[in-house]
Amino acid sequence: MTIRFALLGLLAASPALAQRTDTPTSLPPLKVIDVRYINRKANACVDFNEFANGAWLATDTIPAAYANTGVGRDMGDRNELVVRSVLDDAMKKRASLPATSTERKLGTYYATCMDSAATERAGLSPIQPELNAIAAVRTRDDLVRQIAAAHMRGIDVAFGYGPDVDPHDAQHYLGGFGAGGLGLPDRDYYTKKDPSSDSLRTFYVDYIAKVLTMAGEQDATAREDARNILALETQLANATLTRVARRDPSAVDHPMTLAKFHELTPNLDWTQYFHDVGLTVPAKKLNVAEPKFYEELNRLVASTPIETWKAYLRYHTIDDASRWLSTPFVNESFHFHSRFSGAKALLPRWKRCLRNADASIGEALGQAYIAKTFPPQAKARAKSVIDDIRSSFGERVKALDWMSPKTKQAALDKLAKMGEKVGYPDVWRDYSKLQVTEGPFVLNAQRAAEFEWKRTVNRPGMPVDTTEWGMTVPTVNAYYSPEKNEMVFPAGALQPQTFDPKADDAANYGALGGSWAGHELTHGFDDEGRHFDAHGNLRDWWAPSDSARFTVEAQKVVDQFDHYIQVDTFHVNGKLTLGENIADYGGLLTAYDALQRALKRNGRPGLIDGFTPEQRFFLGYAQSWRSHSRPETMRSRVTTDPHAPEQWRVNGPLSNMSQFAAAFGCKPGDPMVRAPALVPHIW
Ligand SMILES: [Zn+2]
Repeated sequence: MTIRFALLGLLAASPALAQRTDTPTSLPPLKVIDVRYINRKANACVDFNEFANGAWLATDTIPAAYANTGVGRDMGDRNELVVRSVLDDAMKKRASLPATSTERKLGTYYATCMDSAATERAGLSPIQPELNAIAAVRTRDDLVRQIAAAHMRGIDVAFGYGPDVDPHDAQHYLGGFGAGGLGLPDRDYYTKKDPSSDSLRTFYVDYIAKVLTMAGEQDATAREDARNILALETQLANATLTRVARRDPSAVDHPMTLAKFHELTPNLDWTQYFHDVGLTVPAKKLNVAEPKFYEELNRLVASTPIETWKAYLRYHTIDDASRWLSTPFVNESFHFHSRFSGAKALLPRWKRCLRNADASIGEALGQAYIAKTFPPQAKARAKSVIDDIRSSFGERVKALDWMSPKTKQAALDKLAKMGEKVGYPDVWRDYSKLQVTEGPFVLNAQRAAEFEWKRTVNRPGMPVDTTEWGMTVPTVNAYYSPEKNEMVFPAGALQPQTFDPKADDAANYGALGGSWAGHELTHGFDDEGRHFDAHGNLRDWWAPSDSARFTVEAQKVVDQFDHYIQVDTFHVNGKLTLGENIADYGGLLTAYDALQRALKRNGRPGLIDGFTPEQRFFLGYAQSWRSHSRPETMRSRVTTDPHAPEQWRVNGPLSNMSQFAAAFGCKPGDPMVRAPALVPHIW
């Protein structure tokens, strides 16, 4: 899944020091282009992001509970008020609803989360049965059983298992085994050798020890366990591919039978694991994404003392639950996890509960959200923008001077078969089997994770569910799925500032067209997406000479972004961010053409706010990346985020576009006009 932008900043500030503020019932509406954000003193040809967003950047402050502000937060805040009204309604009337009704479950879920007094009283007790089960582990088979139990509750330990779309038969699922089991946000945090990485690992060991102590361990034992846990995770990390390596789909494509997998990992009893996680028909076809990781895991299961594995499971079980336990656990969890986002305070409880409800059982509230926010006219207008994007991309492919006719034909076929989902699912998830009780909340959260697990666990071998959504309806984000060859735009993203059915074409084609629709569509043809065909199968449909030319041009994008500073002295990782940068650039070129198409059809307006349609197009795009992040967030993103910082997502592609230079009268030699030899020509 290739998403439009990072959710790190929006979600990281999860766990409640700031409970007293932030409960407005409405917020001022957003505009696709807000001229108050423009810095008129800045030169558009020197730094367009500063021109488009500079007046806002100069005065914006990031509230303590946030890791960043800007479009994502502004839209998210507005969506959250709508979602909150849905949840409040459900909470108030739940007692009068039938026990089986989805709305009652939703109301109960939210109410138990909001019940902070009950949470305080319960302390660690809700998860004590799980801790007891871990304490009772004696053998490797017991260990596998507890790993299975943790996976069903959504806890990432030891490795990752789940049904995936079969990359060689995209009509069916297979059993997917991936690397996993790390407590830090990326394998690089374990492998880097420098003082700041060392101090971060020390901080992690301190946190693990603290958590184990709070659960009743003696100080000295807890510290020893913490060091052993770090050592265990470091060995897993060393056997894990880097994010850049994983961008190559062939590097994580290792189809395997269960028999072969047993041979690779004789110390792990997969038959028992499948039984324990509720897989009733053994998966015939597997993809073991990283065989080297499993070789190492197999070794570690035998060589690492069982007491270390038990401490590891104990720590991850408590860490996973701690955001929903009593205050001491919440505060320790926040103290550790906010190190990566820079947030200084917890979000108000209602926001944390709302985000959990949306992430866990979000389709239960989607219909009510739609009724309040997304009328049929909005959907129709958004679809017309997306239609123009599709047509324009097709025209661009036909006009490419570097691609052979045969590959072009295959690209056009892929475009024609690309699916799109706009607004909300046609088929809503059935929550009839979900159990929600009047508390404690942490157990409701676990039941929601188990419900989700059971919903999908028996998929291997079954036909792919083409109606399913990978994001909830109120989400301010979008994605392209290469295995399904489809782009998906939740209604939460089809709101101002991204899109406004009442705004002019230029604004909508710059924002929704460029940075959303054109972006997602181009993901089907970026360095990763291009390896999948029209049906979502991993298959090379490119003539070798076309592939070679793509690679040469893509390298220019890598070089361009490698040059930019991310934060401090860290540069952007051009290889890690390549797919997103190709998507931004291709999306913009396509959306520009789409705007011309719309202007021809709908007529060309005069100046609006003093800007031509072409200028408003670029302003709409640039303001859709209005963003202000804490340095901690930017440092984490260097390692974990395939998206470049927003200022470069604006200035990078625009400085490659003659259309931009023409719109603002920029000349060769201006910083926003890159030399022709450096300009990549892809889509
Ligand atoms: Zn993207």
